Amino acid sequence: MIQENIKLVEEKIDAACAKSGRDREDVTLIAVSKTKPLPMLQEAYAAGCRDFGENKVQELVDKYEQMPKDIRWHMIGHLQRNKVKYIVDKVYLIHSVDSLRLAEEISKEAVKKSVTVSILIEVNVAEEETKFGTTCEDVTQLVEGIAKLPNIQVKGLMTIAPYVENPEENRQYFEKLRQIYVDIIRKNIDNISMDVLSMGMTGDYEVAVTEGATYVRVGTGIFGERQYATDRMEDLS
Ligand SMILES: *Cc1c(COP(=O)(O)O)cnc(C)c1O
Repeated sequence: MIQENIKLVEEKIDAACAKSGRDREDVTLIAVSKTKPLPMLQEAYAAGCRDFGENKVQELVDKYEQMPKDIRWHMIGHLQRNKVKYIVDKVYLIHSVDSLRLAEEISKEAVKKSVTVSILIEVNVAEEETKFGTTCEDVTQLVEGIAKLPNIQVKGLMTIAPYVENPEENRQYFEKLRQIYVDIIRKNIDNISMDVLSMGMTGDYEVAVTEGATYVRVGTGIFGERQYATDRMEDLS
């Protein structure tokens, strides 16, 4: 089932690229495997997936230890400063940086472990109260601040769009994020070269691709519905 789902998602990404005149190689599918057991990740791996997304530090570390080493792990969930040390040398990209304090902690731990950590700034484009992320107004200043820190590199922007019935409703948010991204690139901030836009989930990734997404994060569309014990709200935040 997982293999077929991946194939279907890949085909839809192909079609969205063709429709919007984009190169297929410029879009990478991240299989969001949070809450899912290892055999399901192994199936996705066998189907060719090398990019996996997790939103909890402990779960990411556990899966990192048990899965093949050529996987690129993406931290897509809210990150607490006291847990940064566990993942700086394991993640390929942290999608969810929304404050200078968090970036400073990542920088500090990265220096300690002699690694350079790539990050995205999470932007709460739709201004939903329940979501993390910096505001559209504050993004540029945050990027400028992080640019001065050692061993951390801003690669681009990320957003989580609202849950909607009609994905077209989210086009405005994807468009806005791309606009902010282009504006920041035009500013030529020292030490910043951005080429990543992480946007689009199961419900709206095709729209996101036509608006310029370079990473789409798909969970349900690959692994099926998630089951939560008690912490559904935390996961959704
Ligand atoms: C869970 C999650 C996803 C995947 O959501 P689906 O709707 O299952 O595709 C993508 N991005 C983030 C940040 C998530 O937490």
